Amino acid sequence: MCKIAIIGAGPAGCMAACNLDKRFEITLFDKNSPLKTLLPTGGGKCNLAHAEYDFKELVKSYPRGEKFLYSVFSQFCTAETLNFFEKIGIKTYTRNDNRIFPTSNNSQDVRKKILDQLHHCKFQKEEVISIIEHTNGFELQTNKATYLFDYIIIATGGKSNYSFIESLGHTIISPKPALVALKTQPCHKILQGVSVKNCKITAENHKVYGDILFTNDGLTGPAIYELSSINAQKELPYEIIIDFINDDNFDLQNEFNLNPHKNLGNLLNKYLPKSLINTLVRTDLEQKCCTIRTNTKVLVNSILRDFKLTVTGTKKDGETVTCGGVTLDEINSKSMTSKKINNLLFCGEVTNVDGLCGGYNLQYCWSSGYIAAQTINKTCKFM
Ligand SMILES: Cc1cc2nc3c(=O)[nH]c(=O)nc-3n(C[C@H](O)[C@H](O)[C@H](O)COP(=O)(O)OP(=O)(O)OC[C@H]3O[C@@H](n4cnc5c(N)ncnc54)[C@H](O)[C@@H]3O)c2cc1C
Repeated sequence: MCKIAIIGAGPAGCMAACNLDKRFEITLFDKNSPLKTLLPTGGGKCNLAHAEYDFKELVKSYPRGEKFLYSVFSQFCTAETLNFFEKIGIKTYTRNDNRIFPTSNNSQDVRKKILDQLHHCKFQKEEVISIIEHTNGFELQTNKATYLFDYIIIATGGKSNYSFIESLGHTIISPKPALVALKTQPCHKILQGVSVKNCKITAENHKVYGDILFTNDGLTGPAIYELSSINAQKELPYEIIIDFINDDNFDLQNEFNLNPHKNLGNLLNKYLPKSLINTLVRTDLEQKCCTIRTNTKVLVNSILRDFKLTVTGTKKDGETVTCGGVTLDEINSKSMTSKKINNLLFCGEVTNVDGLCGGYNLQYCWSSGYIAAQTINKTCKFM
């Protein structure tokens, strides 16, 4: 009997377990309850995939891993994911923004249906501390006992302790938070809770578009999450420029000409929340547009279109994913096997792959977990 250990019973590890041949002896190790990390996904609704069915397009939504993912998603992509869920009794629907959810809108259901597939597996609620490679297998040590296995799949996620992976000879790219709120200087705490729709944010040569929300120490919102992901490996601090208007046809002078008797505050309120104008535009907001002097016009325009902040950090423990992890140069993308050690495989966020918001990160877990399982199904011989 082929003995397989899966370390980490998150989405990636459980997907691997679901797809391994049931005749194997499979043990899942997790220091927590299985699939606990699936519960908060999509705000509890579980955004389990993204409706992009062309793998060459799908890979573009991963700031890290694009080349590696060509091979992964060419084997198991969105359609295969939906088939898998359909087979285990999870029906899905696609929202207007192309995010795919279970029709129940409940991650608990998804968790239950996946765990229903795993009755043949053994669960050990233990923390894996070390793995030692022997000539004919692996010795796996946990906080409670020592075990022997033929194959090991490491699926410990992005917040794992990488030391036992490093001691196997693998290189770890230092993990950094991604898809996370940003701390800024200055932070405009007084604007906490104020949101602005459809801004353009520039950081060096990257541009992102979307909604932002002021927090007590910086900014959050979809555009900020995307920016945090693209710049996850960027050295801090760095400058960002916000264009609150984000409309190439907008001309402030033209607005003043069209509304000569309106006061400045009321005019700007057409575009931005009053609290934001009152806080950021430090000039007389009662003055009529026809009386505004050139230097005030320049100041107002720069606040609306060229608002500079310095990013000084990320919200502590606020990350949705981490970038970094096992370097992709050391993993075979066709099989998810280690290039350094036979019969050792990786899947999910423990590797240096991370995607944007929208179901991309779980998609990678399903795809890489499936491939790891198929690799063992093909290579492990029954006695
Ligand atoms: C709040 C939130 C919302 C999210 N929403 C979405 C979403 O809607 N869509 C989406 O695509 N992605 C979402 N994500 C990201 C997604 O949840 C992760 O990408 C995914 O969970 C990664 O799965 P994984 O199996 O690789 O790792 P994890 O889910 O991190 O699972 C790893 C498991 O390994 C265990 N483990 C680690 N080290 C050890 C050890 N030494 N011994 C034993 N066990 C160990 C951990 O306890 C854990 O259970 C969200 C993330 C967060 C935090």
